Amino acid sequence: MRIDIVAAIPDLMRSPLEHSIMMRARDKGLLEVHLHDLRAYGIGKARQIDDYPYGGGAGMVMKPEPIFECIENLQSEREYDEVIYMSPDGDVLHQKMVNKLSLKQNLIILCGHYKGVDQRVRDALITKEISIGDYVLSGGELAAVVLVDSIGRLIPGVLGDESSALEDSFQDDLLAPPIYTRPADFRGMKVPDVLLSGHDARIREWREEKAWEITKQRRPDLLDPMH
Ligand code: SAH
Repeated sequence: MRIDIVAAIPDLMRSPLEHSIMMRARDKGLLEVHLHDLRAYGIGKARQIDDYPYGGGAGMVMKPEPIFECIENLQSEREYDEVIYMSPDGDVLHQKMVNKLSLKQNLIILCGHYKGVDQRVRDALITKEISIGDYVLSGGELAAVVLVDSIGRLIPGVLGDESSALEDSFQDDLLAPPIYTRPADFRGMKVPDVLLSGHDARIREWREEKAWEITKQRRPDLLDPMH
């Protein structure tokens, strides 16, 4: 899979993409992430990428020309399944969306900055708008990293144990059950006996029961078949 991220400040994304699971995915050749600096397409000597909003008001707007040039360049090289704009007014990201995106070949992710991008970019270039939650960040870079991380870990071969990702919260509309590791007794706090029993069927049953309990308690909305 190949993901091209177009941003005003690509450096904000380097560290997360160069460590842990993201790096493993890239090292194994399963995920290619390319960062594109919009400044390189900026206008004039100052490499301008933003300008005042028509109609007035506070804050700057990202100009259309650099974004069109960068994205059209990419599109002339290969076909993209989606051109995604990270935006607080987009569809709120959830696991089913991530599962679907993890099956794609080529994605472009555009990060906004300042007040956001000129509407014509959204009208003409963008095929999907994604929010990572009902709050406002100062730029789309961190949101893009969240999206890429959630997608990257689902690509077959990226996680050590394939079944691991399927057991995570949300994969079957259930939150994950509690987990424990050694020692079995830490300061008098004991690991539930069933997990030490070696009895697979009973362990599975316990985990399912706990997952239901926790979901009912914390996120009853997930158990509603219409959600
Ligand atoms: N004026 C915009 C907010 C701009 S925030 C509004 O009121 O909707 C600047 C940029 O940060 C946005 O263009 C977007 O790319 C990114 N961003 C901010 N919050 C986000 C969120 N919750 N999810 C995804 N991207 C977000």
